[in-house]
Amino acid sequence: MSGGYVYGDKEPVEECGCCGGEARAEYCDVGIGYAQVSEFRCIECGATPEWKDGKSVWTEPERPSERGERVTGYLITASGNVHETTFEQDHQWLFDRMGTTQSREIANGAVRITNLEGFAIDLPPFMTQRARRALARIVKDAEWKWGSPYVMRWGAGRGEFMTRAELAVAVSKLPEAPAPAGPEFAP
Ligand SMILES: [Zn+2]
Repeated sequence: MSGGYVYGDKEPVEECGCCGGEARAEYCDVGIGYAQVSEFRCIECGATPEWKDGKSVWTEPERPSERGERVTGYLITASGNVHETTFEQDHQWLFDRMGTTQSREIANGAVRITNLEGFAIDLPPFMTQRARRALARIVKDAEWKWGSPYVMRWGAGRGEFMTRAELAVAVSKLPEAPAPAGPEFAP
C-alpha cells in the first residue's frame, strides 16, 4: 500500500469490480498530505481488490448464509444490492461500515427487512426497479415462512400487517424516483 494524496487534492475513490459501487480506503495525515493506511473496500458490498497476475481482482466477502449463519434480515440498497444481516452483523453494523445511517439509506430508496421479534419491512419513499426486483425475490424466497410482514411505509406513524398481494400493491404504488425539485413541483 503506497497510495495517498496531497493537501488540496480529492480523496481517491475506486470503482468496485463486483457491484460498481464506490470503494474507499483509509488515510492518515502525514503533514504534507494523506497516506493510505488500509486497502480499498467497497462501501456497498464490502468487496476488496487483490492483486493477481498483474491486475486487481475484486472479491466479495462470504455471505452469512454461505457461512451457515442464521440470517436475521436484509438490506436492499437503491442500486439493488442485497446484504444479509445476522445477530452480530446487524443493520447498524452494516450502516456503520457503509458510512451512512438507517434514515439516510431508507430516504434514498433502500429497503430494510428484519426477522428478529417478527417479520418487518421498512419501505422507502420511492424505489428503483432493481430494488423492487430484489424485494420480490426475497419475499418469494421467504415463502412466508416468517409469517405476514409488518410493513412500515415511509413517513407513516405506524405500520400494518400485509399479505404478499397487499405488499406487492403497496410497492407498485411507490414512485420510481424522487420528483425533481423545481418551482413547478412546489405546492
Ligand atoms: Zn461492491
